[in-house]
Amino acid sequence: MDTISIIVPCCNEEATLPYFREELQKTADSMSAANDLTFEFLFVDDGSTDQTLELLRRFARQDSRIRYLSFSRNFGKEAAIYAGLQNCAGNYAAVMDADLQDPPSLLPEMYRLLQSGEFDSVATRRVSRKGEPPIRSFFARGFYRLINKISDADIVDGARDFRLMKRRMVDAIVSMGEYNRFSKGIFGWVGFRTKWLPYENVERVAGETKWSFWKLFKYSLQGIVAFSTAPLAIASVAGIVLCFAAFVMICYIVIKTLIFGDPVGGWPSLACMVMFMGGIQLFCTGILGQYLAKTYLETKRRPIYIIAETDQDALE
Ligand code: UDP
Ligand code: MG
Repeated sequence: MDTISIIVPCCNEEATLPYFREELQKTADSMSAANDLTFEFLFVDDGSTDQTLELLRRFARQDSRIRYLSFSRNFGKEAAIYAGLQNCAGNYAAVMDADLQDPPSLLPEMYRLLQSGEFDSVATRRVSRKGEPPIRSFFARGFYRLINKISDADIVDGARDFRLMKRRMVDAIVSMGEYNRFSKGIFGWVGFRTKWLPYENVERVAGETKWSFWKLFKYSLQGIVAFSTAPLAIASVAGIVLCFAAFVMICYIVIKTLIFGDPVGGWPSLACMVMFMGGIQLFCTGILGQYLAKTYLETKRRPIYIIAETDQDALE
């Protein structure tokens, strides 16, 4: 008999959780009725400051399929996904947002595709970005174009974290215990045969998004640093280009001085050049610093998350 673990990272989702649970249960019940199939719902409370944990405790009491983990503070969605995958028991696992932006109605189709044996994972992507600020969509598209050029993880534009995976793939992801996690990259990096299901963007049922533009921007930089070393090459390339430019300028100045004299001209251009070079050097040192910082955090080997409470505590 198959068990599907549904992993749900939740951070301050008191407004959405009741709707989500209802929708999910409806889908799960109809799937269980049609197949030889059980479910495990694993909610990961990522340091919520509202009534989320209280709700989860109640859910777990009401339904034995529902389990929860609660973090000691906010560790971020990536950590919540990792905790869920590490602690789930099913031979299939799916990651889903709590705000119904990942429609549970896609699950039967996803499960059917995996059962055919042709795929190891079924992932979803939004084909539209309806309801999103245009400026955000513009930067998001640019980010996907860039990261696909400079990294070997295949990252699909509009890819959601919503996907159903077989146990093999879950184990592969759990084996990647890196501290700086970028799930979209990790999912792509582990490989496996993945089927992409496109769907229209759905807006969140209630509550608010936790992602400000600035947070998304930092997240995208983190993704680039985690999955590409191309920026490190900028220093070398800039160095070569500038050396060549300098060589051309030296030739030009030597010849000009030999023909026309004028030894003291060119102070403004000199000042500009010094500034320019200083800028390039600082920029490249900054990039080095980014990688060094990530390496530093990685070498500390801190835990990715800390659990403060689980559904087991409530039973004791
Ligand atoms: N989330 C989380 N920890 C965080 C931020 C978000 O676990 O620090 C969860 C959140 O509860 C939701 C999912 O990640 O289930 C996606 O968050 P959100 O809907 O705010 O992001 P968006 O859909 O706008 O990208
Ligand atoms: Mg959302």
